[in-house]
Amino acid sequence: MSDCLFCKIVAGEIPCDQVHADDDFLAFRDINPQAPAHVLVIPRRHIAALTDLTDGDADLVGRLHVTGARVAAALGLEESGYRFVINCGRDGCQTVPHLHLHILGGRPLGWPPG
Ligand code: AMP
Ligand code: ZN
Repeated sequence: MSDCLFCKIVAGEIPCDQVHADDDFLAFRDINPQAPAHVLVIPRRHIAALTDLTDGDADLVGRLHVTGARVAAALGLEESGYRFVINCGRDGCQTVPHLHLHILGGRPLGWPPG
């Protein structure tokens, strides 16, 4: 997707503060962090949103979470805990239409979300 911000990050056309990279995923620090640790994990392949997932994406989405857990551990968040968030659509406050898993941690997070 040539006009997708996160595809441009995957392609190296826009810089990011990378914390993890492998064949299928990239993880980088959020540019507008909402917690002391705020990292986004994205699949390299463009998937716009949760609403676009198909049965064939089950393995990828599972590994997205496994990768996120490993990144959270590498960030030192295992003992204190952390939160995964995937926003979807207007009411979910998704602003970048390329599937991404937020990892938030480093402070107590409120619940329920506002
Ligand atoms: P969402 O609202 O769930 O779509 O989250 C999109 C996230 O991407 C927001 O938290 C933004 O701060 C973050 N973001 C936008 N542009 C960049 C960028 N160039 N590098 C890192 N994070 C970004
Ligand atoms: Zn994309």
